[in-house]
Amino acid sequence: MERYDLPDAKGHFGPYGGVYVAETLMAALDELKNEYERVKADPTFWEEFRQELKHYVGRPSPIYHAKRWSEQLGGAQIFLKREDLNHTGAHKISNAIGQALLARRMGKKRVIAETGAGQHGVATATVAARYGMECFVYMGAEDIKRQSPNVFRMKLLGATVVPVESGSKTLKDALNEAMRDWVTNVDSTFYILGTAAGPHPYPMMVRDFLSVIGEESKEQMPEVAGRQPDVVVACVGGGSNAIGMFYPYINVDGVRLVGVEAGGHGIDSGMHAAPLSGGAGVGVLHGAKSYLMQDANGQVVETHSVSAGLDYPGVGPEHSYLKDIGRAEYVAIDDKEALAAFHDCCHLEGIIPALESSHALAWAAKVAPTMGKDKVILVNLSGRGDKDINTVAGLAGITL
Ligand SMILES: *Cc1c(COP(=O)(O)O)cnc(C)c1O
Repeated sequence: MERYDLPDAKGHFGPYGGVYVAETLMAALDELKNEYERVKADPTFWEEFRQELKHYVGRPSPIYHAKRWSEQLGGAQIFLKREDLNHTGAHKISNAIGQALLARRMGKKRVIAETGAGQHGVATATVAARYGMECFVYMGAEDIKRQSPNVFRMKLLGATVVPVESGSKTLKDALNEAMRDWVTNVDSTFYILGTAAGPHPYPMMVRDFLSVIGEESKEQMPEVAGRQPDVVVACVGGGSNAIGMFYPYINVDGVRLVGVEAGGHGIDSGMHAAPLSGGAGVGVLHGAKSYLMQDANGQVVETHSVSAGLDYPGVGPEHSYLKDIGRAEYVAIDDKEALAAFHDCCHLEGIIPALESSHALAWAAKVAPTMGKDKVILVNLSGRGDKDINTVAGLAGITL
């Protein structure tokens, strides 16, 4: 393969990505793009970023050999990139810090964010407290009801949680409201977007900040496994933890990249969140062109997944491109399979994984037995499952 160097100057990954927004947002995105270009070439910015990741987040996150589980499966060796050990419990904080540092350089004293399950809201509220910024988090009214612990966390951290009553009152509506706020308050406000989607330069910027996951892995794997992995696996909601893991490996020959989407009740049921592997078409959502779950009239459809973090009808444009060129593969794991892997990981490794990450674990556990014992699978364990215990208990008929 030729050396991979995308997006182009206009934010295109092949036919995907770009900037599909109202005129009023163009100026804000242009300013952001120019500022990001400036800091991208400024070593002092990256030095500051690295220091924050080291001392505040606790990076580098370790890589751990899931030995008992691998032995039980009887095939490939499974290694886990422990993003669950980061401050606030997932990969998201590293992206939030990158964007907050950029906001500070741009002199913005107010940050806003959208959130679904509340994880990105918590990450944003955390960095806002850390850097002394005012913070507003847009969250669907439905999600606020379902995710009260995270709503309280954000409030403890000093953020204002703004309920969104439009549409289905969930993540995609929260994203629309956050963009509206940004247009109105662009002079004072930085929009910290939570995944590798949205209009250019967000997919590129979020990818760059989270590439630390793959960069660290490339350095750590020779030490812990004696070599680079045969397969790298990550779950895909909007696609930020996956692209952060994949990107540094794109130009490495012989490393298979696998993104795992939420199969929900099964692809055939239509109740899933798998735009890449579920046969969805291409459309425009939240400012960019990408694969998208929509009906025959182009209306975005309701999605379903047991894991709130994967419950998004769109996906970052770079994944759409990697799928089309065949550099990455995308598969689906349904709710039941993810839950089984969740429990296995708890029992066999003493790690309670996030339900999102459990999708990637389930795929690895399914494929490992078909591979030789000398093969290596690296799974990005994107987050810890403490946030999911109410969901898992509820499915077992237990009220906590
Ligand atoms: C938010 C979240 C995801 C999904 O988001 P991506 O942008 O696809 O990474 C996955 N895992 C965890 C633990 C999350 O909190």
